[in-house]
Amino acid sequence: MSHTTPKIIIAIDGYSSSGKSTMARELASKIGYRYVDSGAMYRAVTLFALRNHLIADDGSIDKETLIKELPSIKIDFKVDGDKQLTTLNGEVVEKEIRGMIVSSHVSPIAAIPEVRHRLVQLQQQFGRERGIVMDGRDIGSTVFPDAELKIFVDASPEKRAMRRLKELTDKGVETSYEAVLANVVERDHIDRTRAESPLRKVDDAVVIDNSDMTHDEQNKLLLDLYNQIINRLG
Ligand code: C5P
Repeated sequence: MSHTTPKIIIAIDGYSSSGKSTMARELASKIGYRYVDSGAMYRAVTLFALRNHLIADDGSIDKETLIKELPSIKIDFKVDGDKQLTTLNGEVVEKEIRGMIVSSHVSPIAAIPEVRHRLVQLQQQFGRERGIVMDGRDIGSTVFPDAELKIFVDASPEKRAMRRLKELTDKGVETSYEAVLANVVERDHIDRTRAESPLRKVDDAVVIDNSDMTHDEQNKLLLDLYNQIINRLG
């Protein structure tokens, strides 16, 4: 009798720069699943809004025009070796969406209900056949409430700001620890307090505080959790 391993959905939520994307990407590659970075999708919509002058200098957003334009915004991912490059209307925008300008405008854009509805729909399509690891803020609560494995990643704001600063410096982006910490704290606040699917830990999520964990310890823990579920289902 042939035995196929069941395919599940793994939802990894948590605060900004908690290291959840790296954990999610590495787990997906290890178990042969597709990885989707839902934050990149909110970032791509933000880049679209910036390029089309829908965000004024004072930060106010022309929501009406953005909502009207939503059906014409195509977001996808292009696989390049072990990397997933975010595309906006066919153009690779991976580098642009990671900069500080997009980071400082993304949370108000992500708080717009119509933006969320559109991106959640797209995310659910990516997960139609299961076999997916998706990271974000509302994956376990809204996108895939039926995910078999839900993780909530936490770490102190200071640790997260240090990590993000290193990432940005490695990419040649000039900024300061203070600016990055302020952005991390501000995004946490907006993400937690917005009306539409705010960031929260759902009851059935496993919490991983990785403030003092090594990379290998995190990967091992995630793989163990995945194997437990597969053994239970198989
Ligand atoms: O994960 P990342 O930090 O790249 O996400 C960028 C922003 O997109 C977050 O600060 C949050 O405002 C928003 N986001 C969201 N829901 C998700 C993923 C990201 O609101 N599922």
